[in-house]
Amino acid sequence: MLHERTITELRLGLENGEFSAEELTRHYLSRLEGPSQDINAFITVTGNIALERAKKSDIDRSKGHAGPLSGIPIAHKDVFCTRGVRTSAGSLILDKFIAPYSATVVEKLEQAGAVMLGKTNQDEFAMGSSNENSHYGPVLNPWDRTRVPGGSSGGSAAAVAAGLCAASTGTDTGGSIRQPSSFCGVTGIKPTYGRISRWGIIAYASSLDQAGPITQTAEDAALMLEVMAGHDPKDSTSIAAGVPRYTDSLANPIKGLRIGLCQEYFDEGLDATTGKLIMEAVAVLESQGAVISEVSLSTTRYAVPAYYVIAPAECSANLSRYDGVRFGHRCENPKDLDDLYKRTRSEAFGNEVKQRILVGAFALSTGYYDAYYRKAQQVRRLIRNDFQEAFKTVDLLLSPTAPTPAFRIGEKSDDQVAMYLQDIYTISSNLAGLPAISIPAGIHGHLPTGLQLIGNYLDEARLLNVAHQYQLQTNWHKLSPPAGGTA
Ligand code: GLN
Repeated sequence: MLHERTITELRLGLENGEFSAEELTRHYLSRLEGPSQDINAFITVTGNIALERAKKSDIDRSKGHAGPLSGIPIAHKDVFCTRGVRTSAGSLILDKFIAPYSATVVEKLEQAGAVMLGKTNQDEFAMGSSNENSHYGPVLNPWDRTRVPGGSSGGSAAAVAAGLCAASTGTDTGGSIRQPSSFCGVTGIKPTYGRISRWGIIAYASSLDQAGPITQTAEDAALMLEVMAGHDPKDSTSIAAGVPRYTDSLANPIKGLRIGLCQEYFDEGLDATTGKLIMEAVAVLESQGAVISEVSLSTTRYAVPAYYVIAPAECSANLSRYDGVRFGHRCENPKDLDDLYKRTRSEAFGNEVKQRILVGAFALSTGYYDAYYRKAQQVRRLIRNDFQEAFKTVDLLLSPTAPTPAFRIGEKSDDQVAMYLQDIYTISSNLAGLPAISIPAGIHGHLPTGLQLIGNYLDEARLLNVAHQYQLQTNWHKLSPPAGGTA
């Protein structure tokens, strides 16, 4: 089936003339109208735009101008601005917002020939770990429709897992690419902070946000990242370093590679079966010549608390722009300016977003700034130092991506701390700005489990290399959810 093929395989088929980009796009669009879309992975399907782009890609190819992703059907998380297309960030406040320009990432992928099928569902403003916070309703996990796909890039991960697009984009502020990738059995990489331009991506917490691809394989992730990464003068935090050809180093042997297991990531909070599956994956890497040792990241337990001060603080500033004046929703008949602000924001932000704005505004307020925000920033520095210490003795770190497999819809809705702890293994790398990848590493009952690798700054090539080598030895990434997947 076409939708089971990887980008690498699709590229071959397109090159050999086995099918055209238009045929491929029509195939995906028909799936988007079919039963698999019951998982609610898309907010907007852009069928006409996709067909136009696909036809153009076929013409370009016939003239010998095919780009690296020419004709490959992809989807963007709805947090990426896409010119002329609704960009909602999963929020009612932007439900009618048509972006006047495209994010740099969207443009780069378009220039590379990729065909956008539509925009994927997500937690409102990327706040969440389960995709239950979307104005457009929850996304269902294609492996089991009673369970969450993870969040906040749940639509993007579920769409790749369900064969609704060949690859997708996501953003990761505290785990939002990796945790849903783990829950949906796909590959997702969060690059080094600044590796991919944030220009045109609706901001959640600017010092943590980073975009990345979600794909079936590490090889596909390398292809996507080669296009997505790079310096952008429009984003002052983007890194001015050249982009390596990640695909060139995939085949490197990993013999002698030093992998550290962070003790604190295998604590009592980790589900036992998940832990066992991860240790089986470790054994695979060891059999390929990796040298395993234990390391300690003693600041781990402070990561979630520090994050839940810093991220809300930044979100309270970033979301102040949604005031009913310039963007999106505006309340009816405001009495005065205060009323306009209050009612617009009360009506159109969801509860999780409101709560975080309140927490953030509190943490930044006079008298509390030193006690909370400054303290959290200091903890952030310690976390970063901890990692740098670890990277003196190992090349990369390995851990589970999330403490459990996908949980049931509604299961953690009343327990915010349990929900926040979903990100316990992913958040530290955002606080430190480090790159990290999640790859499928086993099946827990009937649900996928993800393995996380964390690298040093700009070490994406090595993460992709190790992930690819692992995928050459295992089949977890090749498993697809059963049709209509339920428990
Ligand atoms: N779950 C985390 C949060 O809600 C991370 C979200 C993200 O990475 N966008 O903030």
